[in-house]
Amino acid sequence: MEWNDDAVKIVEAIPLPPMIAHYAKIDAERRARKKGLSCVTTDIARETEKGYEDALGKEAVELMRKMAAGEEVQLPDSFFVDEPDELYSIQLCPAKFGASTMEKREQMSRLLTPLRAKLKELGISRILTDKATTSIMSHHVFRVAVNGCSNACFSPYFSDFGVMGKYRPGVNSGRQCTHCGVCVSYCSEKAITLDEKGPVFDLQKCVMCAGCAEVCEQGVICTKEKGYKVVIGGTGSRHPRIAQTVAEFTDLDGVLRILEKCVRVLEATPVEGRVITFRDVVKKRGVETFKV
Ligand code: SF4
Ligand code: SF4
Repeated sequence: MEWNDDAVKIVEAIPLPPMIAHYAKIDAERRARKKGLSCVTTDIARETEKGYEDALGKEAVELMRKMAAGEEVQLPDSFFVDEPDELYSIQLCPAKFGASTMEKREQMSRLLTPLRAKLKELGISRILTDKATTSIMSHHVFRVAVNGCSNACFSPYFSDFGVMGKYRPGVNSGRQCTHCGVCVSYCSEKAITLDEKGPVFDLQKCVMCAGCAEVCEQGVICTKEKGYKVVIGGTGSRHPRIAQTVAEFTDLDGVLRILEKCVRVLEATPVEGRVITFRDVVKKRGVETFKV
């Protein structure tokens, strides 16, 4: 595929978080191919830019544009803590680099400092070190993943302890629904229908991602309640396992109490064989053991 020089500049300037930045080029070539073109033109480059703006939302794009331009932006310090001396790791979703809304970043940052403090207070690194019977390697690490929402971009389901922000949607009674249908077509869970007054949510289907509130330009949809989903016992290792849900919707205190239970049970479980991992403890004891 050939590239127009200006198209290269446009695509390279699309503000994206580092983990997905290289997809923009692939996406532009995809768009060109679909139109039967052998060259990425400036029109295709603009289309690519618009596609990412629509996918990530105006707020995130604006923030990342400022970052790319070297302007001061407010990202929580807790997103960038380096802890090489600990035997836990906390992985964050792309919201770490601004690819999300303030609401989701706040929900993550609200959790992060107390979560780290709790891991230290419980002595997770010491517990894992004391239980090790072989040289300390990456499989000894207690893996935590914190995601801004239930889109779960960064592997909470393959982590020992995964947390996702959740946002229960509701209707802002002061705003008038225009029945534009944008929220209905946005919701990939098909959890929204419209009646004569406006949106109606099927909370059995809704995963509480906050997306509908973000796309409703009339401000009709809002977050009625914020919380967290907690999953435990996942691993992508030689015997992969998907983490199981221990709390569908809880608050910050609930997350910390579950974490404490997890670490206490891990500490009390004797090592059998060469290595003990938290995911093996969950498998052995069952997820019900960790509910609080
Ligand atoms: S709730 Fe908002 S997005 Fe949905 S139909 Fe009404 S105005 Fe449109
Ligand atoms: S919060 Fe997400 S899943 Fe729930 S209704 Fe809105 S868009 Fe659909």
